[in-house]
Amino acid sequence: MNAITENQSYSAELARRDLGVVWHPCTQMKDHETLPMIAIRRGSGAWLEDFDGKRYLDAVSSWWVNLFGHSNPRINAALADQLGNLEHVIFAGFTHEPAIRLAEQLVALTPAELTRCFFADNGSAAVEVAIKMSFHYWQNRGMPKKARFLTLQNSYHGETLGALAVGNVELYKTLYKPLLMDVLTAPSPDCYYREAGESWESYSLRQFAHMERLLAHHAWELAAVIVEPLVQCAGGMRMYHPVYLSRLRDACTRYGVHLIADEIAVGFGRTGTMFACEQAGITPDFLCLSKGLTGGYLPLSAVLTTENIYGAFYDEYTKLTAFLHSHSYTGNPLACTAALATLDIFATDHVIERNRTKAAYLGRRARELENHAHVAEVRQCGMILAVEFVKNKARREPYPWAERRGQRIYRNSLQKGVLLRPVGNVVYFMPPYVVDEAEMDLMVQVAADGIELATCD
Ligand SMILES: *Cc1c(COP(=O)(O)O)cnc(C)c1O
Repeated sequence: MNAITENQSYSAELARRDLGVVWHPCTQMKDHETLPMIAIRRGSGAWLEDFDGKRYLDAVSSWWVNLFGHSNPRINAALADQLGNLEHVIFAGFTHEPAIRLAEQLVALTPAELTRCFFADNGSAAVEVAIKMSFHYWQNRGMPKKARFLTLQNSYHGETLGALAVGNVELYKTLYKPLLMDVLTAPSPDCYYREAGESWESYSLRQFAHMERLLAHHAWELAAVIVEPLVQCAGGMRMYHPVYLSRLRDACTRYGVHLIADEIAVGFGRTGTMFACEQAGITPDFLCLSKGLTGGYLPLSAVLTTENIYGAFYDEYTKLTAFLHSHSYTGNPLACTAALATLDIFATDHVIERNRTKAAYLGRRARELENHAHVAEVRQCGMILAVEFVKNKARREPYPWAERRGQRIYRNSLQKGVLLRPVGNVVYFMPPYVVDEAEMDLMVQVAADGIELATCD
């Protein structure tokens, strides 16, 4: 048996063993009766390789986490060094250098008013922390009625119960509704729905009127508004104008309501600036970070907040005002080390600047898809580019979800060596920042083929 056939049989064996014992996330496992499970052997740069030696271009950064490629030598070296010193330590009463340095750097990178960094270990947990902190702040300040949250239509903030409650993607939420706290929901500033000829700015401003009204009526009972700045990613990479954020910041301040910015997906350069909030020139009361924080290496999240909020919890122990939240792996030293190495790459490699050139190239190439008879819109925000395909272009009529046309694109692109994973009827690119022009050409070509195949009947 030569090496290839040996690997092929091992690849098939791994898939079989996986389906015998593993339950995968966000998956109807029955799909795998026909959909191959792919076992990845190794990764390098923007590429993944399976046990058959087949390579896949990771156009979605492995669920939006990877920034500087798989098995990045600099992050690898930092982790190997940290492994020789300390893998983990309890983070109450004890601390360590990677967490201290990371908190210092995050505080320095984010707006000046954000001076405190609370660690958790995944994105949903960061959202839970922000929600609990905001609620608890108003309790500690003697305003217990401020206990509700206001969210945007089509928003996504994670899938634990608190995070799910403040999100608004029906697919994830409907079934679990009886378990979720009640929230207020404002119409989204999502510019896909703007009138023909209307600018993004004008549409997002128009939508803000609804938000302003809700704040005026409900500020007395609201703890916080939570938003995904600029791009509603899981909601189909829907985008809006920064003016919405500057208006929202202003209104939250006027009405005495916290603003939680969930930059778990859009932080760390995704939208063209280090943080999306920078494009609106605003400082949220809570900034949630995860995903790209460790360059896609290890689970870690952080919630940045202000001295004012920190101060509301700081008192004699017996006043019982301390923030009560912890995870076993809070502030894990290996994860913090991966994050430090990631920030170091940002500091030395002119990443934001280089991404501007790459994003412009990707935009130029992908713009051609706008001419397709079933493409309603090609939209872009920095290193996120989305293509919305529809049943009827003139009426922007979507394909029924049950037809699962996106899955045809997924299957086809895998065959062609690209990992594209459409959200509903939206094909998107969210590549690692190490992607080059030839790889972007391939992504766009395979997406174009996929859209043609998925819309030809
Ligand atoms: C992914 C995501 C989350 C949840 O993060 P997990 O680490 O998957 O729990 C929360 N908010 C946004 C905007 C996200 O994209």
